[in-house]
Amino acid sequence: MHPKSPKSVLKNTFGYDAFRGPQQKIIEHLLHGGDALVLIPTGGGKSLCYQIPGILKPGVAVVVSPLIALMQDQVEALRQNGVKAGFLNSTLSFDEALQIEREMAQGALDLLYVAPERLVTPRFLELLTQCTIALFAIDEAHCVSQWGHDFRPEYMQLALLAKNFPGVPRIALTATADPIVRDEMMENLHLTQARQFISSFDRPNIRYRVVVKNNPKKQLLDFLKSEHDGDSGIIYCLSRKKVEATASWLKEMGYNALAYHAGLPKEQRAENQRRFITEEQVIVVATIAFGMGIDKPDVRFVAHLDLPKNLESYYQETGRAGRDGLPANAWMAYSLGDAVFLRQMIDGSEGNEEYKRIQHQKLSAMLGFCEITSCRRQSLLAYFGEEAKDPCKNCDTCLSPVETWEGTTQAQKALSCVYRTGQGYGAGHLIDVLLGRVTDKVELYGHDGVSTFGIGKELKEKEWRSVFRQLVAMGALSVNAQTSGLMLNGTSLPILRGKKEIHFRVDAITGGRSYTSGTRKKASRLMEEVCTSPGTRALWDKLKAFRMETAKELSIPPYLVFNDATLADLIEKMPTDDLEMLSVSGIGQQKLSSYGDEIMAIIDEHLKEYI
Ligand code: ADP
Ligand code: ZN
Repeated sequence: MHPKSPKSVLKNTFGYDAFRGPQQKIIEHLLHGGDALVLIPTGGGKSLCYQIPGILKPGVAVVVSPLIALMQDQVEALRQNGVKAGFLNSTLSFDEALQIEREMAQGALDLLYVAPERLVTPRFLELLTQCTIALFAIDEAHCVSQWGHDFRPEYMQLALLAKNFPGVPRIALTATADPIVRDEMMENLHLTQARQFISSFDRPNIRYRVVVKNNPKKQLLDFLKSEHDGDSGIIYCLSRKKVEATASWLKEMGYNALAYHAGLPKEQRAENQRRFITEEQVIVVATIAFGMGIDKPDVRFVAHLDLPKNLESYYQETGRAGRDGLPANAWMAYSLGDAVFLRQMIDGSEGNEEYKRIQHQKLSAMLGFCEITSCRRQSLLAYFGEEAKDPCKNCDTCLSPVETWEGTTQAQKALSCVYRTGQGYGAGHLIDVLLGRVTDKVELYGHDGVSTFGIGKELKEKEWRSVFRQLVAMGALSVNAQTSGLMLNGTSLPILRGKKEIHFRVDAITGGRSYTSGTRKKASRLMEEVCTSPGTRALWDKLKAFRMETAKELSIPPYLVFNDATLADLIEKMPTDDLEMLSVSGIGQQKLSSYGDEIMAIIDEHLKEYI
């Protein structure tokens, strides 16, 4: 292998054996001077696409990055691998910034990370004209799109790079799949001539699961206990109040849980985010305000205690799990109440009719995903315009096929009950009527006299709830924005007239692993998959302890010492000499010399004890 080939840098500097997806093609394209537009999902390995050409080409690679925390993380990761990298942002003092600028001008840096607003200052552009520039990389390039969620006006000015530095290759990268955003990126960054590299948006290591709420706290606890002992994760809730309540309840249950929402003081938020990144086993309970700019690779689960508004949000939020490619869970609990609440929120919102129509459509797709009886991944990917040929075998519906029942008559009874009672009531009251219960409310409104009173005794209350939920999800019932009462609509009529056969799914009732049998000991799913031979769990703990101590000494996040993929590979290979050590994923020359001896000492000790 030529020491200056991309493959050798991949191995010696980053400690990896093979390129992933389009990485190699992108790197070669840049090395040949081409421009590139790169769409790779989160965790797909975008950074190496510009880092390796930055290392190989003469001069400095200038990386535009919108978030200070991400920038610092990336630079520290590169330094851990022995790469000459630096950043320029508002956290540096004047003198520190000057020092970095000097290093850059002297050609002592392979990579420089810089905030967009600084890059486009006349002073900095002038400085750049005195340097050899290997390439420009524009990370999170969707920030240039006004259509997307993360628009940053300063990104618009980056178009000047094309004019001011003709001949310097430019690469724009994003994890956003939206075609409108993609077109805006090309247009606004003057990259219409760039070659496009688009990978599949599938995240095969994430296991998607949706359960119907039935004591959600217990379901969450079962899930955490049976699959995520000692793991880091994020739990999303819709309201600040619920975030606070859930976090303090989890704390009582012995978890290291922190709250995060926009209502907390800025310092508190920063501190909680810092703890999530720098400590292990931290669970953040958050509103959607949390997540952007968090590059933590070992988030082992994302749980939703409330239904997200649409599949775009769901995919973005769940995408924060398992960036390191190791097994991770996306788990959600949802209920009829969620569906009713979100429908009502859309109708009560400020937007015009067109806006509301689109929001309802998006919510329907989200609900459809929850109620689907076939592979969830296929349906998710299809929503984003990608076809997956086979069921994934890594979602709940694949792992334990959903049973369905023919419920045309019950659907008719439910809809008819809505009609007979005057279309102004929620599911709870309607179920009382169907079951023939004479409650105060039933008496008050005289609903014990309607023709649907007591006609639904063949189902239990919980089953009727499931029927109403699925009718709302399939759009056969609408929700009144003011009263939240259920109403008929155009979709209800063919069902009422018996023109449409209806099948309902049988709800799974458990929270944790419903699809496996037998009792399992408490362990995280990842640990369980890795630690199969005797004593390896002890080794796992020792290596993790070493990682934590080292991280504390260096004041860096533990995953920058080595990440979970490296941890798993260390346990798999148990290296005892330098050569074996270098065969471990994520261990290159620099990490071998920084940590190799100490890691091997831990492994030696383990081998003596167990073999
Ligand atoms: P993205 O920016 O696309 O979300 P990253 O560049 O942060 O992804 O990479 C995600 C993880 O995958 C990182 O831990 C990275 O070191 C690892 N990775 C990237 N490329 C490879 C590869 N070829 N082999 C093994 N691991 C890789
Ligand atoms: Zn599947």
